[in-house]
Amino acid sequence: MQAEEAKDDDLKRLLPCPFCGGGITEFHDNGRVWAGMKYSDPISVSVRHWCAEAPGPSRLIERIGRNKEQAIERWNMRSNVELTGAGTASVLNAKLGAEQ
Ligand SMILES: [Zn+2]
Repeated sequence: MQAEEAKDDDLKRLLPCPFCGGGITEFHDNGRVWAGMKYSDPISVSVRHWCAEAPGPSRLIERIGRNKEQAIERWNMRSNVELTGAGTASVLNAKLGAEQ
């Protein structure tokens, strides 16, 4: 089916989760309502992700955009920022440790 293939392609564009690298990721349309003839466009679109191996209650990460494109962009941006941020922090700590 055409729609299923398109959905798969969009999922492939998402970067892997920085915490688990796997888990379950899906798109969710927010605020779609039946408008008489068809469903209205969603108010916003979420990327929802459940981490794979987290013990206890699953960790849900959600990034919301005005549309699917923006949701994908925000998810990918977040992955980069958090990975880079963690790397920078450990480099700084290592330097501080060496100077003392
Ligand atoms: Zn995850």
